[in-house]
Amino acid sequence: MNVLVLNCGSSSVKFQVIDTDPERIAADEDRCLASGLLERVGSHGLIRFQAEGQEPLISDAPLPDHRAAIDSIIRWIVSGDARIPGIRSLSDIHVVGHRVVHGGERFRGSTLIDTEVLRGIEACVDLAPLHNPANLRGIRAIRDLLGEGVPQVAVFDTAFHATMPETAYLYALPYSLYRRYKLRRYGFHGTSHRYVGYKYRKLIGIEREQVNIISVHLGNGCSACAIKGGHSIATSMGFTPLEGLVMGTRSGDVDPSIIEFLVLKEGMSPAAADNLLNKQSGLLGVSGLTHDMRELLEEVQENQDRRARLAIDLFCYRVRSYIGAYLAQMNGADAVCFTGGIGANSWEVRASICEGLDWIGLEVDDALNRQMVRGAGGEIGKAGSRVRVFALPTDEELLIARDAVRCVRGLPLPI
Ligand code: ADP
Repeated sequence: MNVLVLNCGSSSVKFQVIDTDPERIAADEDRCLASGLLERVGSHGLIRFQAEGQEPLISDAPLPDHRAAIDSIIRWIVSGDARIPGIRSLSDIHVVGHRVVHGGERFRGSTLIDTEVLRGIEACVDLAPLHNPANLRGIRAIRDLLGEGVPQVAVFDTAFHATMPETAYLYALPYSLYRRYKLRRYGFHGTSHRYVGYKYRKLIGIEREQVNIISVHLGNGCSACAIKGGHSIATSMGFTPLEGLVMGTRSGDVDPSIIEFLVLKEGMSPAAADNLLNKQSGLLGVSGLTHDMRELLEEVQENQDRRARLAIDLFCYRVRSYIGAYLAQMNGADAVCFTGGIGANSWEVRASICEGLDWIGLEVDDALNRQMVRGAGGEIGKAGSRVRVFALPTDEELLIARDAVRCVRGLPLPI
């Protein structure tokens, strides 16, 4: 089956076309036929399309809204120019899988989209005011352009964390606020953490119920997840993606009273404080240079920049704290798995996070760790390390495509 995987952000649309079905899933032979990225949706767009085995096609065009962006994707996919194997017309797109950011408490797994589900996603707009509306626009655009006959599936960032116990998801605020607004930890990056759990169990040949790991997603956004018995039992992002680890531009955990202090001292509005914590903090805020980890590492190497070093150290310190906390909550873990652009590629950051964890039996093999830059990923712990260590590139699109097929065929949704 050809699955169009769509990730509609507030001003961008990413897509892949993936050929997969239950047999391909079982053999791990899913095939990515094409991919692309459309940026600056809402103004004059930048467009990058690439079909398997061909050079990328880069262009620009007005993209007034998500519908226009998706229209241009579909026109390219079925055009003669694209030359995507097995795709000649609209009828060769069999199902569409959408990344949907927030599923609230209602959506505990991926689901076929019907009117009722659409209403449910709309009901979560309050919880993700920037993201869910973009996801909804994508779903409606597909319905208009491909017709009701093409099934659509929603895969939620929050769903994997639906198994967290109350103690992990409740804040110690008046319980009435949880009742009134469903104010609680939801967690995000669920599709990535789930993929890491899947990849880990495939690599070492165990069943889902035997997966006891800490998954650490370090990209522009960062989160850690304690996976016990194959289920998420704790995660570091909270009511929004702001909580937890230090990120590219997000602060992660701070004392909430800092906001009132800033409101009083700097006359900041709540919106300005929110912008400060989400857009001007994290690696960017501490270093005063950039949100980009690779650039910070270069800055340290070339210029021994003190603040760049400090930002990286703070970043690693916070990850180590969460690993320690989750080891305590899980009664120990079998492995720590790093993913995301930083986690899968930066041997320096992985080494720094794992430094001083030998007392829990977690030891990184320096040579293996340094080799693990890009590529398929694998084990980077020392032979005999009691807590094993892995670097595993994530593939959220693949999991979305597989879930889309499973939902259409009525199959279970394993990790
Ligand atoms: P997103 O969260 O937006 O999907 P990514 O997962 O691609 O982003 O992560 C982006 C981050 O990964 C950036 O900080 C980038 O510098 C970092 N990164 C990518 N490759 C490397 C590398 N080889 N070494 C260090 N950092 C890297």
